[in-house]
Amino acid sequence: MQVVTLVGNRPQFVKAAAVSKLLRERYGELLVHSGQHYDSSLSAVFFEQLDLPAADVELGIGPVSGSDQIGLIMHAFEPILRDAEADAVMVYGDTNTTLAGALTAAKVGCPLVHVEAGMRSFDSDMPEERNRVIVDHLASLCLCSTATALENLAAEEIRGRSELVGDVMADVSLAMMPVARERSNALPALGLEPGEYLLVTAHRAGNVDDPARLERLVELLEALPAPAVFPVHPRTRVRLETGGLLDRVTALERLKLTPPLGYIDFLCLLSNARAVLTDSGGVQKEAYLAAIPCVTLREATEWVETVELGWNVLVGLDRAAALEALARNGSPREHPELYGGGSAGQSVVEAIERWGGANTQ
Ligand code: UDP
Repeated sequence: MQVVTLVGNRPQFVKAAAVSKLLRERYGELLVHSGQHYDSSLSAVFFEQLDLPAADVELGIGPVSGSDQIGLIMHAFEPILRDAEADAVMVYGDTNTTLAGALTAAKVGCPLVHVEAGMRSFDSDMPEERNRVIVDHLASLCLCSTATALENLAAEEIRGRSELVGDVMADVSLAMMPVARERSNALPALGLEPGEYLLVTAHRAGNVDDPARLERLVELLEALPAPAVFPVHPRTRVRLETGGLLDRVTALERLKLTPPLGYIDFLCLLSNARAVLTDSGGVQKEAYLAAIPCVTLREATEWVETVELGWNVLVGLDRAAALEALARNGSPREHPELYGGGSAGQSVVEAIERWGGANTQ
């Protein structure tokens, strides 16, 4: 079987690192990089640090607006897919690259495998939520990170087959956390002490594209009760600059701004933080895996288990609610294994094997 995998964004490089090598032991894989994240701090550093096989094909589609990006990726991806005589296209998550890969597979008539299928925030204003729903409905095989995701797909009566495999990003995070603690120099380099600082990330369109909401985010940063480190996503930096807010954030003495960090430094900072504030899906999950309390700067999440267990609090951009969540004492007592314990990549390959067999019978 020949699988063509399309990736293009930071979290997808992490996810593919759990699957590509295992997949290649069993099948042929052509790894295609859309170029959606092209900046080396969001792309090359992940290939290096996670020992991800180099992309076989680079589509080189850079930072253009949403529908242009989807169209350009499809236009460049289709001939590659046809030439590769692919038996399956594999996509991860919920980005423009994911949607473009799924639509191209549908156009070419190639079966689609969706990894991290069935995640739902039930917030249809989120572009990622719309992408997820479309991709799941186009997929022949939906591979889910959680039992909740599997239930979501059943409720939507999707036509493909769905299976619970665990979370592939968790495989990588769990394997890399001890490595990151040992190898990273990030804490001394930033003058931070373990357990005494907050780690912040924010880049969702819903938080940074609307100037009024971006200002609320800045007000929340101004109110933080402890030293904090904020690796700034390029999208957020541009919005802060154009909104005239970057100077206000830079002026905050207790907030250290950094460029986006490589995985090893980021995981080290995350696993030593007092708490994490984020609007990222992956970072919420990684905070849970590291048993670090998380304050999520969104009104809804797909990673509902983390909230139900008390490790994650949803505050949107409500400053008072964020401060209240940060003031909580102690951690929840229960910390069950939620995301497959590190073997999801293997389960993905086994699920493809079962499905491939079923598909060719
Ligand atoms: N990440 C990183 N460096 C950073 C910020 C995030 O390595 O400066 C990693 C993080 O550990 C997680 C992934 O990037 O594995 C999450 O990516 P992002 O927040 O861009 O995407 P989302 O999960 O929200 O789709």
